[in-house]
Amino acid sequence: MYKIMTPGPTQVAEPVLKARSIPCTNPDLDEAFFDYYRETCRLISRLLGTENETIIMDGEGILGLEAACASLTEPGDRVLVLDNGVFGRGFGDFVTMYGGEAVLYTADYRNPLDPEALERFLEGDHRFKYATLVHCDTPSGMLNPIDRLCPMLKKYGILTVVDSVSAMFGEPVCVDEYQIDILCGGSQKAVSAPPGLTFVTVSQAAKDAMEARSTPIASFYANIKAFEGYYEKKWFPYTMPISDIYGLRAAFDQIRADHGMLQRHQRIGAACRNALTAAGLSLHLESGFSNTVTVFDVPEGTTAAAILDRMKKEHNIMLAGSFDVLEGQVIRIGHMGNNANAADMTETMKALEEVLAGLGVKLQVSLGEAFEAAAGE
Ligand SMILES: *Cc1c(COP(=O)(O)O)cnc(C)c1O
Repeated sequence: MYKIMTPGPTQVAEPVLKARSIPCTNPDLDEAFFDYYRETCRLISRLLGTENETIIMDGEGILGLEAACASLTEPGDRVLVLDNGVFGRGFGDFVTMYGGEAVLYTADYRNPLDPEALERFLEGDHRFKYATLVHCDTPSGMLNPIDRLCPMLKKYGILTVVDSVSAMFGEPVCVDEYQIDILCGGSQKAVSAPPGLTFVTVSQAAKDAMEARSTPIASFYANIKAFEGYYEKKWFPYTMPISDIYGLRAAFDQIRADHGMLQRHQRIGAACRNALTAAGLSLHLESGFSNTVTVFDVPEGTTAAAILDRMKKEHNIMLAGSFDVLEGQVIRIGHMGNNANAADMTETMKALEEVLAGLGVKLQVSLGEAFEAAAGE
């Protein structure tokens, strides 16, 4: 088995694996499971700083994004798609798939979205039903300031849909304070459960918008409204993946007990960036570095494939390349959730140092030592 130092899925801890092997009841018929499900949802809402309802849906992170768009979009709706990364632009596909008109607001892919520039745009045009934003755009590691962008969009009467799948719990998220209408998360990033579940928090305004539709939601599976009143009716739209939910709950119980989680991500993220730059490698972004994933350019004279391959073969560690416009150009180190610890990261940086040296890349300092010094507990 490889040590998976990728930006999701991340390493899964023993209590989560164990919880997934608890004997199963029938989740459709056992009333106690409805309580367990709702308690788990309430715990997620609390950890994300919101009074809004959370629902857990049976599908990985992408389902949450699609469900948000499917549930809000009616044919002809104008939707503002904030695009400074691959996931940011990708939201547009879900909007058009459900008949909406996706208006791309495309900005620099190497720097975070600038609230002032967005406000100038909105002054001229703000006739949008909702806007889509990505908190951490994982293929580049771009962290966007959702704490400033969302309140501004709301000021213009625009609902906000935020993909924080790869940021939440590694970066601060406070749904009510930031005024996020639908926030999408996934099980396999900083939450550190296996892939398979998405969860969304849904504001009253978003529910009202779904209620006010004049056409039905054009999906069964990607339909947030299908969960309406599930607890009172004791009726889920489909059989809940009970073992996955047991595992997710165990992961959230760990997060609840872990008070140093954000600081640890900060320390590990900063140490990783410092070590790479001290060694003479170049970070892919100019600014907007997420503390959940670090992305650096493939150095001259070698390839992403060669680095990834040697990391696996010689050190049993899996890093990630990237895709779409970044295919072959960068290497990504995922230090979110359970991956955000000094021991695994030191091992990873030492291994990367050896691999790069073996490929003829000259480093100015030892990556392992520089990381260890900067991450010092
Ligand atoms: C991982 C991720 C998702 C979920 O997609 P996967 O298919 O599980 O990779 C959605 N959004 C972002 C920003 C992600 O990093």
